[in-house]
Amino acid sequence: MENSDSLSIRSMEEQTNLRHGQIEKVLKLLSVESPAPVIKDGSRWVRTPVPYKMDHARITHLTGQRVQEWQEVKKYLDNTNCKMTFLRRALDDLDPTPCGKCSSCLGQPVINISVDPTLAHRAGTFLKHAEMVITPKAQVAANAFLDYGFRGNLPQKLRAQEGRVLSRWGDAGWGKMVANNKHAGRFSDELVEAIAEMIQQRWQPNPAPQWVCCVPSRYHSELVPGFAQRLADRLGLPFVDAVSKIKDNQPQKGQQNRFHQCRNLDGVFAVTQPYEGQAVLLVDDIVDSGWTLTVIAALLQQAGSGLVYPIALASSSVKDS
Ligand SMILES: [Zn+2]
Repeated sequence: MENSDSLSIRSMEEQTNLRHGQIEKVLKLLSVESPAPVIKDGSRWVRTPVPYKMDHARITHLTGQRVQEWQEVKKYLDNTNCKMTFLRRALDDLDPTPCGKCSSCLGQPVINISVDPTLAHRAGTFLKHAEMVITPKAQVAANAFLDYGFRGNLPQKLRAQEGRVLSRWGDAGWGKMVANNKHAGRFSDELVEAIAEMIQQRWQPNPAPQWVCCVPSRYHSELVPGFAQRLADRLGLPFVDAVSKIKDNQPQKGQQNRFHQCRNLDGVFAVTQPYEGQAVLLVDDIVDSGWTLTVIAALLQQAGSGLVYPIALASSSVKDS
């Protein structure tokens, strides 16, 4: 820390486990206070002598207003009398007459909500083939991998290949089944089939993977390996339990920015037995920031494996805003 009163956003990410976008928002809010407790100096932020006090009264007031608006909307939805009358009263019209056009006045829905079952089936099939690309990470956070020694841009030969994720967590394609299965403790054979079909019929990575391994977990030690083993059987490839967890860490999904996502993985995994020079499928259940797959892919290739193709059942990532 060069000067504790002046920090770049990147060094704030190290100091606080907050998303990059959140840090930017907070700084923006603070800098328009008058007088402001922080000011921008080039690319760095500097504290001023102004102490900052949170305006709790204003926060309470605004929150109360939002709750009230939300309750109004609920009342509108529950209201069985004329919808337009409800709206006009809300806008201080003291003597509204029923409109004769809304669903309450007509006694039936205004819009036809029946769905053509053929269309619904086609939509379902579309969603079940709506896998997404996992884009491998390249640039690691500075000062995060003190143990593994990864710095700056990962060399090409340690980077993962483009991967695939079958669904979004909880979506109407496979995502719902992934979520339910995860809570029940076993991923179904239907998901094995869905991933195998995706790999063999649509993705077709080239050169083709020759073996399968997976991301280990200490708490659900059978869930992902069991799935990866069945997927390997289905693909006719050997499954090797090649990655082990050698250090406890915090749940990766609680890490809010790149520094913490990287730091939380430093020294956590060790690779034991890769097939020399052979391309491999690296299986995980849920992919969030993608750093876990990135780090294990680098370790596998460092230990002599061939190309690494990451693959996951569902994505839970929320884009930073
Ligand atoms: Zn009406």
